[in-house]
Amino acid sequence: MPGRDFYEILGVGREASQEEIKKAYRRLARQYHPDMNPGNKEAEEKFKEIQQAYEVLSDADKRANYDRFGQAAGPGGFQGFGGAGNFGGFGDMGGFGDIFDMFFGSGFSGRQRQRQAGPQRGPDLEVTLELTFEEAAFGVEKKVEVAREEVCRTCSGSGAAPGTQPGTCPNCQGTGQVRQAQATPLGRLETVRTCSRCGGSGRIITVPCHECHGRGQVTRHRTVTVNIPPGVDTGTSVRVTGEGGSGQRGGSPGDLFVNIRVRPHKFFRRDGYDVICEQPLSFVAAALGAEIEVPTLDGQVSLHIPEGTQSGTSFRLKGKGIPRLRGYGRGDQHVVVKVVTPTRLTERQKELLREFEGLGEGGKDKGFFDKVKDAFMG
Ligand SMILES: [Zn+2]
Ligand SMILES: [Zn+2]
Repeated sequence: MPGRDFYEILGVGREASQEEIKKAYRRLARQYHPDMNPGNKEAEEKFKEIQQAYEVLSDADKRANYDRFGQAAGPGGFQGFGGAGNFGGFGDMGGFGDIFDMFFGSGFSGRQRQRQAGPQRGPDLEVTLELTFEEAAFGVEKKVEVAREEVCRTCSGSGAAPGTQPGTCPNCQGTGQVRQAQATPLGRLETVRTCSRCGGSGRIITVPCHECHGRGQVTRHRTVTVNIPPGVDTGTSVRVTGEGGSGQRGGSPGDLFVNIRVRPHKFFRRDGYDVICEQPLSFVAAALGAEIEVPTLDGQVSLHIPEGTQSGTSFRLKGKGIPRLRGYGRGDQHVVVKVVTPTRLTERQKELLREFEGLGEGGKDKGFFDKVKDAFMG
């Protein structure tokens, strides 16, 4: 992948001071930190990009080199990128191997060889988990089935049948690499490619393990317990660290991403952290006012309907919504009343309604409304 310009990534000019670069980096790193953007792959990529840019621009030598050669800098230009150790606290970002693809293309330089033969982090896996409205609101512990590649126990991952030894690769004589000279604009470069026959390990399997057929890995189904935090919604992805695929050659396992899908509720609807519901209301209660019982996520609560309430009016039940994901407090519940017009009226009810029509505003005294209440609400 052709990487974007490092100055552009950090949003600073080419003349930016170390202090300005540092400030820009801190601001962006906070904004795109995975903890602030759980499950957001785009933010994660961005975060890596920002780190890579900062790694180069914060170091005077590397920056000078970058300014001179850009991303076409030859091997040696960016020696010492090291591992995650330079980045305390970012150890789970999967290392910085990618940066070498970015600079040198694939199959270049000694770093590539090291990536092939050294520890390799396992792949991330994902599963979809369906939750009820309430489970998503309040959080729940769930078990999910995950199929993942694990190290074969029969051969301990070597791929060679027990009691046999892998042989030396004849293509690279066991070095894992094949050297090649290449002319470039920067001069003649000797490039080193990973041996295609042995994949860089320098060894080939002579008698494959019967369990894994030489792959060194087998597919196993595992049950993983996932703690779903309160406030998740459809589209939320919960990361379970270390429950992805196994790493290779001692590499750490990948992560498991649990993608949430919330089933619709028969009464509640969700809008962000607010809960919306529609509540039928008799036209008498709407006209005269009433105390009604309304379902919430926490059970029934009573709601005061003032006299003269129109259909479609929304009432807010503060704090009766969804708990905020990784935050404090809860959203609200909005009760939208729908006034129900009666369809089968008794003669007495019809008589009262006609009387109601005939009366002027002044004539509708309390006695009249009591009669209406008696007739319609029993
Ligand atoms: Zn095996
Ligand atoms: Zn080889």
